[in-house]
Parts: sequence; structure tokens; C-alpha cells
Amino acid sequence: MPELPEVETIRYYLNGVVLGQRVQEVKHLDPRMVKSGVASGEEITRRLPGRMVKSIKRRGKFLFLEWDSGEHLLVHLGMTGRLIWIPKDVPRVMHTHMVLGFGLFDLRLSDPRRFGRVGWLAAGEIPGALLGVEPLGRQMTSRFLAGRLEGRTAPIKALLLDQRIIAGLGNIYVDESLFRAGIRPDRPGGGLQFAEVARLTRAIRSVLRQAIAHRGTTFSDYVDALGHPGENQDYLWVYGREAEDCMRCGHPLTTQVISGRTTHFCARCQS
Ligand SMILES: [Zn+2]
Repeated sequence: MPELPEVETIRYYLNGVVLGQRVQEVKHLDPRMVKSGVASGEEITRRLPGRMVKSIKRRGKFLFLEWDSGEHLLVHLGMTGRLIWIPKDVPRVMHTHMVLGFGLFDLRLSDPRRFGRVGWLAAGEIPGALLGVEPLGRQMTSRFLAGRLEGRTAPIKALLLDQRIIAGLGNIYVDESLFRAGIRPDRPGGGLQFAEVARLTRAIRSVLRQAIAHRGTTFSDYVDALGHPGENQDYLWVYGREAEDCMRCGHPLTTQVISGRTTHFCARCQS
């Protein structure tokens, strides 16, 4: 599932090719992908032609294409979504749900499992207004995180997945961050000492920076906007390593379901 580093990588590559380009036609937009917001699929199809891409923003796991009208097209990639810039003559893959024609190139969204979505923001609406802080932004401090965890009895794993607290973390980077910080994922969030929260804050930032530097993690579906897989899967300590030994201490890693999510950790390195 694309998390912050994957979506940021897509944003980075798209930024290099799509800024200043004008949509000539909406060749296809599956109305079932347009799940909420101020405009229907039909309205988006009608409004887009002639609009120029002014900026591409990311908030959490959401991408926002800003048009010269001040409106935004929102794209969320769900579990298996791909957003790709591709020559218009290349045949479409199965499960292609959106095709925006920019002359010689298309911007295409495909999503076999269809958990992704497309939305529309009117001019003046703030992208990602309901989301929590950006973990790589200035607001993300130990003090902030400690404040949000205070009194909470839910496992720290669940609280880090809550997009209203921190926007952009998913199963991969939460498990990796907790390993780096040496904190067990099933501990109640409110029970962490301030020094542990500080370690966790640093761990989250460094895990995300490393993943962005490696252009995201690819297990099956994720590719960047030009169709290339990421390389961060080669640099993970615990995620996806069930039945393996901890690379730091040699103890077998534990896999356990916490808050409904499969969780990987080392019972010796994390306490
Ligand atoms: Zn270990």
C-alpha cells in the first residue's frame, strides 16, 4: 500500500513532467472512483479540459493536482493504485479508471482492487484539511507527539496509523519506526516516557527520509510516476520479514495482529 514515501516519490516525478501542462481531454473517468466531494465524475469530466496544472501537492497519502482555476483534483491510491505518466499510444492496462489526455502523454490511474479514490476540491478549499501533521514538517516535534499520546490507552501502533494525528504512516513505516525506536508496538501510547517519544519522533523522520531516498518500497504493486519500482524493500529491518531472525540481535522476529493489522517486531530489541 502506498504510504507517504511512495506518494511523495510519485509527486516528485510527476512534478518534473506535468507542471504547466494543459489537460486536453478526459478520455476516461470511472464514476465509481469518485467517492465524495463537491463534484461528480461527470462534472470533473466537464470541468477539466483546458485546465493547466499549477502545482502538485501531497498531504499524508493524498495527492492534489492544483489547476490554474484554484481547484484541486484529489487522488488517493488505496492499496494497489498506480498513477503513471505514459505515452498516449501505449495500450491501457486492465482496471484503468482514469485517463487524462495531455497531448502526446496521458496521466493514467489504474487500481485493480479499487480502494483508491478521486475527488474534487473547490477553489479556496484547503487540501488535506482534516489530516494530522506532516511527519517531516516543522509541527512534528516530540512535544507535539507526546501531547497527542497523553492519556491514550490504544496501542502505539494504532495511534501512529491514525491519520488524524500523523498523516502518511501505514503498516510498513510504523513497524519500521517502532523497531528503530526500540518500542513494542502493543504498548499503550499514553504509557511512553518522554525520552521514548523523542526517540520515536526521530525514528519516524529518519525511516521516512530513508524510504524517500530509496524511492519507496515495492512488494507487488507500487511503482513511481514513470513506472519504476522502488528500492526501499531492501532496507527494511522488520516489515515483511516474518519467520526471519532480527538483523540486529539474531532473535526470531515476532508477527502478531495488533489493532487488526499484522505487525512485525523484535521482542528482544523492542520493550
Ligand atoms: Zn532484535
